[in-house]
Amino acid sequence: MEKYFKVMIDGYTGYANYFFNEILNPGWHNYFYWLLAASLLIYLAEIAFPWRKNQALIRDHFWLDIFYLFWNYFLFSLLVYNALSMVAVQAFKDFLGIFGINNLVAIQVGNLPGWVQLLIIFVLRDFMQWNIHRMYHHVDWMWEFHKVHHSTKEMGFAALLRYHWMENILYRTLEYIPLAMIGFGISDFFIVHIFTLVAGQLGHANLNIPLGKFKYLFNGPQMHLWHHAKHLPQSHPNGFNYGITLSIWDFIFRTNYWPSNDENLAVGLPDEERFPEDFIGQNLEPFRRIFDKNKPNSPTS
Ligand SMILES: [Zn+2]
Ligand SMILES: [Zn+2]
Repeated sequence: MEKYFKVMIDGYTGYANYFFNEILNPGWHNYFYWLLAASLLIYLAEIAFPWRKNQALIRDHFWLDIFYLFWNYFLFSLLVYNALSMVAVQAFKDFLGIFGINNLVAIQVGNLPGWVQLLIIFVLRDFMQWNIHRMYHHVDWMWEFHKVHHSTKEMGFAALLRYHWMENILYRTLEYIPLAMIGFGISDFFIVHIFTLVAGQLGHANLNIPLGKFKYLFNGPQMHLWHHAKHLPQSHPNGFNYGITLSIWDFIFRTNYWPSNDENLAVGLPDEERFPEDFIGQNLEPFRRIFDKNKPNSPTS
């Protein structure tokens, strides 16, 4: 246990140095400035070519979502990647060690050309994310955390990163293990991180992006708007369109639902009107609900 703790502390202290370095040294390989630039450009596109023309430029909870943007993408997501994923990998290595397996790398892809490696990382990670996202909609306690993301009542680029910090922990840890098994480290997929950030922000943006036949491959704002639909059809009571960057998994596994392109579709939590509207409240609410449900003699609604 002490060993895991040390691995985690090393990860966090490394991250603190890295964090200040990022802000002080703008450059091409810099998450902070990419996040800033991508957000600004997509916001400008929303202002110039809005899909819902009557949506306010500073929509409800805009600044809360901007805070989530930096909290989740820059402060928390990468931090968890740095610290917890190391612990997960260490624990996984030790687990394999019990069976006399000393090498975590199951398939060595290091000899393949760089772009092929990146493509493998991207597709594998996206498939893992599709699975994890689907679980968030089907497993009761996971849905309580995922409700934060679905509590947005108007879509815009910044809604992408409105989610509970527990999602970082589960996504980052679970998606990291298969990647580690094929021999990658965090520094290897900067481009994939940035590409998925831009694609994700576009997917939530107030933009009409006609993808043509590519809609079967890539998720877009029209398809993802339905993912956030307030009223779910009886055929898909838990949700649908779980794709993060790629939509292909939904078409393969029949979890797609996209009956129309109505930009004014009502979005929000399907089963309730009221959800905390502030950062602290939203972060505490899932714990409160899970605790209440598990309390003996409590109603299970
Ligand atoms: Zn969802
Ligand atoms: Zn979403």
